[in-house]
Amino acid sequence: MAEKVLIQVILPLHLEWEPYYSLPDGVSVEAGQRVKVMFAGREYVAVVSAVGVKAEGINVKDIISAGDELPSISENEIKLWRAVAEYYMCTVGEVYKAAYPSILRPLKRKRAIEPEDLAPGDEPIVLSAPQEAAAAKIRESFAGGKTALLRGVTGSGKTEIYLTLAREAVSRGRSVLFLVPEIALSRQIEQRVLQKIPGVMTCHSSVSPARRRRVADRIRAGGTYMVLGTRSALFLPHRNLGLVIVDEEHDTSYKQESPSPRYNARETAIMLARIHGANVVLGSATPSLESIYNSKTGIFTEVTLPQRYHGGGDSNVVIIDTGSERRKRGMVGHISLQLSGRISAALKDGAQVLVLRSRRSWAPSLQCAECGSILKCPRCNVPLSLHRGGHLVCHYCGHTSVYDAHCPSCGGELIPLGAGTQRIEEELAEMFPNARVARLDADVSDAEEKAVVQDFAAGNIDILVGTQMVTKGFDFSAVRLVAVIQADNMLAVQDFRADERAYQVLQQFRGRAGRRAEAGELVIQTAEPEHPVFRELTSSADSLSEEFLAQRRLFGYPPYTRIVALTFRDSNLQRLENMILELRVRLPGNASCAVVGPYSPAVDMVAGEYVRCLRLMLRRDKALVSTKKLIYKTVSEFIKQMKYTGHITIDVDPL
Ligand code: ADP
Ligand code: ZN
Repeated sequence: MAEKVLIQVILPLHLEWEPYYSLPDGVSVEAGQRVKVMFAGREYVAVVSAVGVKAEGINVKDIISAGDELPSISENEIKLWRAVAEYYMCTVGEVYKAAYPSILRPLKRKRAIEPEDLAPGDEPIVLSAPQEAAAAKIRESFAGGKTALLRGVTGSGKTEIYLTLAREAVSRGRSVLFLVPEIALSRQIEQRVLQKIPGVMTCHSSVSPARRRRVADRIRAGGTYMVLGTRSALFLPHRNLGLVIVDEEHDTSYKQESPSPRYNARETAIMLARIHGANVVLGSATPSLESIYNSKTGIFTEVTLPQRYHGGGDSNVVIIDTGSERRKRGMVGHISLQLSGRISAALKDGAQVLVLRSRRSWAPSLQCAECGSILKCPRCNVPLSLHRGGHLVCHYCGHTSVYDAHCPSCGGELIPLGAGTQRIEEELAEMFPNARVARLDADVSDAEEKAVVQDFAAGNIDILVGTQMVTKGFDFSAVRLVAVIQADNMLAVQDFRADERAYQVLQQFRGRAGRRAEAGELVIQTAEPEHPVFRELTSSADSLSEEFLAQRRLFGYPPYTRIVALTFRDSNLQRLENMILELRVRLPGNASCAVVGPYSPAVDMVAGEYVRCLRLMLRRDKALVSTKKLIYKTVSEFIKQMKYTGHITIDVDPL
């Protein structure tokens, strides 16, 4: 057979290899160009990854057509996809699919966009002396080629520093990517950034695909630009990046849980910056232990900004022991008299109050008064929650049924256990009949959410109750008091990161209280007042992260190791158990890689499927990269050989 000159392509699929195609007569393509191809009986838009591949004797098809109407993918984009695929153990095609989620019809794409440079903005930013010192240290870190970690309490003025550095990058002719965990309605970040740098483009998960395309086209047109976006903005066709900012770098929203690639935007931002030769600044009031560790080991430069810009200290922390209050008859429902007194005082002064309760619903679970059993979802191993309106809801699979107050097994009476956001909202409305009380959680529709945020900002709501949604954003100066109900729930999770996360959430929430120069107050209601996480909040010492790190080292957890989590799901338990044991023996188990499990996760059945896990703890040594490759190869081959597709997920650095 004659030698043919072929191309290779990346398909938007979970496919381990890049298939070969030939070109019809007279057609030529370049690497990065998009082409239409048939694969396994379906048509796809693929990306050309190699041109002029020589292959003898393989039987290949012609491509259908060169998708000339679609923009080409740059070399840097493909470099990032490969880096992400390698690190997060997935296929390049899955990253392509995440980067280009919808292959749209070509835009009416006819007047070419003129390249245009972003104007750095002329509204002056005058940094305070501590901010200037921090900025200088960050520049120095950049000069040494190091990522800077800006550690500064909420309100210390980190955003103004980011904007100063962004302007500097733009003035040098380089572009800027500013990442935030989410663009919540309550966050005024968008307006603030636009006010200082008017040409900024925003790109987050709720912008339309057409808008995302326009941003991408503007970037491709050339000239300097700045994008403010959430994690998916990493996969825009970036050019000439000079600075990547990762605000609230500890935030778990940076991690994509599903589908693959299960990437963390913080690590991916560093990969992207490396490709472009860009600087990176990470910022947080409560950095992740990973970043603290990287600062301690000299990989990052830690820059601190300890004071609030407008003066005033951190909010005072008051811990209320619900056990002892109950004994003293100091509780009304789920709210202590101490807390309601503080709420009254705040309301009397015309201040607003935020109340955090980490569980939505009216009652998170129900117990039978006769047989003692907890009412569970028929398809998941989790309690059903009772929602206002009299229905039971599973928060894992969405299963909904009507509540009739009787135990399905013995007919006994069901007793609600605990209080979710809806019940707290009711209790507060009853306690403060003259106050306007509202609620924000995942049960609130987008339109209602918008209205609530607007009403809160306008001062038309006095008390806002919600899940973690109320801890993010809400930088409204009339909030003086923030309170957490049943804070223990944040700790009671079987997860080695639970305490770290609880501390971060509480510290962030604390930052929501207080006017400019006046300190606010954080009230924590808990049955465990002596818990080190709560204690740390009341002390000025910064000992908790040291303690956390010491524990992690002792037990061999990240950041001292890297975890690769394998999760198995199957409706047939016997098959699942066989598969997991079969794979376990094939995985490398040695000094660099310890295999833990199989074990059942806290929720071991979801939507009718059993869930089991294996956890691989990898030493951060020279063998790490090759061990990861070996694991990926072993798992992929196992899935193929056993025809077990769709049952196993791989998660690198799970949260
Ligand atoms: P952070 O991002 O650390 O939470 P911000 O940047 O939001 O802090 O600053 C807190 C408040 O102080 C904001 O209202 C901001 O406008 C103001 N501020 C911070 N730095 C300056 C500055 N250099 N000039 C004027 N106002 C500033
Ligand atoms: Zn369920």
